[in-house]
Amino acid sequence: MSVMSIARSQAQATPHVSFEFFPPKNETMSERLWECVRRLEPMAPDFVSVTYGAGGSTRERTHATVKRLAQETSLTPAAHLTCVDATKRDVHAVAEAYWQAGVKHIVALRGDSPNGMGEPFKPHPGGYESSVDLVAGLRAHRPDLGKVFEVSVACYPERHPDSLGWDEDMALLKAKQEAGADRAITQFFFEPDTFLRFRDRAAAAGVTMPLVPGIMLQPNFKGLKRIAGLCEAYLPDWLHQLYEGLEDDPETRDLVTANVAAELCHHMAGEGVEYFHFYTLNRANLALSTCHLLGLKPADAQAKAA
Ligand code: FAD
Repeated sequence: MSVMSIARSQAQATPHVSFEFFPPKNETMSERLWECVRRLEPMAPDFVSVTYGAGGSTRERTHATVKRLAQETSLTPAAHLTCVDATKRDVHAVAEAYWQAGVKHIVALRGDSPNGMGEPFKPHPGGYESSVDLVAGLRAHRPDLGKVFEVSVACYPERHPDSLGWDEDMALLKAKQEAGADRAITQFFFEPDTFLRFRDRAAAAGVTMPLVPGIMLQPNFKGLKRIAGLCEAYLPDWLHQLYEGLEDDPETRDLVTANVAAELCHHMAGEGVEYFHFYTLNRANLALSTCHLLGLKPADAQAKAA
């Protein structure tokens, strides 16, 4: 990032951010997650979310992580929840337990076949059939008792592998909004125009909820290629070139990753984008440096400066 662009970023409004974590599988990963949470907490994100897996034990880890975030931190947690392998009754039980634990924001997803991406999604008998049904079901969860979840959904600026076409995708996104979604968080992408074109299409289709760019902070380019292959996300040539020769140099890869993310956000901020969702991979340093490059300071520092 040039001195000019840093100056521009200071002139732009301070962005709103949210952070995504995944539930830890063992003690070492757990320590890493909670250290990451503590370091990111002062950035005062709008919310932090925790992903949801397909199997029973990984789901338990999500529930435990989200509840601990609610109980032990000042953060606002959001729990990812899918339609996979669960009856409506199961989903309602999970939602109710979250509500009781003070978790009032759900990221509602269809999810993938438990046999892996690439296999067609088949609804569970007695379960929610689609992301739209799930959003509607969560909205209908005891509003009589004043329990109204905030609901985020997913969207795909480069289209999802199951996409039937742009018109169908836009109709689905609008249906999620009409079912009660408050915002849509995007799959990751690396070209700002990819998001800006998507935003234009969505606006033309009547989507008015905020679209929040999902920014990937994966410094392991081999790992990034694998994930991008699975979800059919485009990795531009310039990105391949940036990581070339850094295979054995994790420190430089981190610096490159934070700079790429900050440039991407910075460009979109110049086009009026105010919200960014960071896929942190449970690492604080990349999210912190990206936020810092965007002019976002820890809440304490902001309060002192005010
Ligand atoms: P949908 O958007 O409902 O459907 C996926 C796509 O299929 C649509 O975008 C559209 O192209 C096509 N499609 C589906 N139904 C229709 C229809 N009726 N008409 C037209 N087109 C249709 N997965 C997890 O397992 N756990 C997680 O925690 C998780 N978190 C995620 C967070 C974000 C921000 C994102 C972007 C993805 C996440 N995923 C997660 C991955 C997600 O579960 C998969 O991408 C899944 O295949 C689709 O779920 P969805 O809710 O986006 O589905």
